[in-house]
Order: sequence, then C-alpha cells, then structure tokens
Amino acid sequence: MGTLDPVGLQSSLFFESAAEIYGRVFRELKPRTALPELRIEFCQFANPDSFIRLENGRLHVRMSDLLEGAPAPVLEALAHILLGKLYRKEVPRIYSHRYKLYLNRRDMRRQAHLVRQIRGRKYISGPKGELHDLEAVFEALNLQYFDGMLGRPQLGWSRQPSRTMLGHFDPSHNAIVISRIFDRPGVPLVALEYVMFHEMLHLRFPVDHARSRRCVHTKEFREAEKQFPYFKEAKEMLKKL
Ligand SMILES: [Zn+2]
Repeated sequence: MGTLDPVGLQSSLFFESAAEIYGRVFRELKPRTALPELRIEFCQFANPDSFIRLENGRLHVRMSDLLEGAPAPVLEALAHILLGKLYRKEVPRIYSHRYKLYLNRRDMRRQAHLVRQIRGRKYISGPKGELHDLEAVFEALNLQYFDGMLGRPQLGWSRQPSRTMLGHFDPSHNAIVISRIFDRPGVPLVALEYVMFHEMLHLRFPVDHARSRRCVHTKEFREAEKQFPYFKEAKEMLKKL
C-alpha cells in the first residue's frame, strides 16, 4: 500500500528521510567535499534543542524528539542551520525564519512546556511483552503503510489489561502505550496491529493534544484509518475482547 497522504498536505520532500535531507543540504554547502558518514538521532531533550558535531570523519546529528513528527521542510531548515553553524556559512533567512516559525507555533511551545513539567515522571514499560514485541509490530506497520518514515516513539504496555483504554499516544512523552489485553493468548494479532496502526496515525497527523485528553480524529485521520485492510474485522474483534 502507498503512503497515507490522502490530501497531499506534505510536500514531496516528505519522502526524504532525515539522513537524505542532511546529505542533500551537505552537498549544497560543501559540493567539493565527500559526504561523511551520517548518524542521526532523535533524543529526549527537555527543550527542542539540536546539536551537530563532526567526529572521526562522522557527522553526528542529535535532534530533540519533539521534532520527530516535524514536516520535512522544517527538518530541512534545521539541517541548513546546523550544517551552516558547523561550517561557518551564513544561513539563508528563509531557513532560519521557517524553523523559528515552526518552534513558535503555540502547540509546539505548549508541548515543550508540558514535556519539561512531566518528563521523567511517567513509567513506560519496555516494548517486549509475554507474546508480542511492540517494536516489531510498529516497524512492520511503519514499512507497510508509512514507507518506514515514522520516527519510532517510546513503546510500552499498560500496567493493567484495560478494555476501555486499548491504546493511546501520549505526545508529551512521545510514547504509544498499548493495553496488555493484546498480549494474551487467543487475542488475534490483527487486533493489536489495528490499535497500533491507529496510534501511529496520531503520530502521522499531529494535533493539539495538550488542549484536552480526548483523542482527536480529523476527517483525514478517519480516511487514512480505512487503509488498514482488516479495518472492519479488527473493529469487530475489539468489541469481543
Ligand atoms: Zn485515537
């Protein structure tokens, strides 16, 4: 199946990975220098800060995980800023402006604030359950429905096998938590996959979650959700849990 972009909100740059973006910007700034090996990480910083260093011929970029869901043009702007700083090149205003605009968006500021307040206080179990590994489930769906382009958040199982909260995406911790009810024998894998797919769509279509605890489903979200081939069957299974 193709990518989930029914309304074409993302530019074609969306199909570039963060590494491809940094490679392209590097070649633009240093056309006569061989592209060094790139290592790009999203880290849990309390602020949306990012760092770059050149070490043993390797470029190491560390970006705040708050930027993990940022649109490609924003990551591109940040690549210009970081590489410009590293190689002492002036950063074109269009990029510094674009990046600043993004950071100043109200929801981004509020999210950063929330993270500062509560990060570290929440317990999130590891991805490995008794039967299922949430990392494997996430990456298989990522490849199949998102061209492998979604940055992986923290993944964990709920403490209790809840029937009312089957899964949720918590943007302030950048975490997907799945009910332990899916880690039981006899519960079909496709039901777990559906719940994970649903939470992944929250990553793909970020909204201002800080305003309320409700999970917010826009029209484009609902449309994208139908791309899951066992959508109806999975919903039926969830009723029988
Ligand atoms: Zn939801």
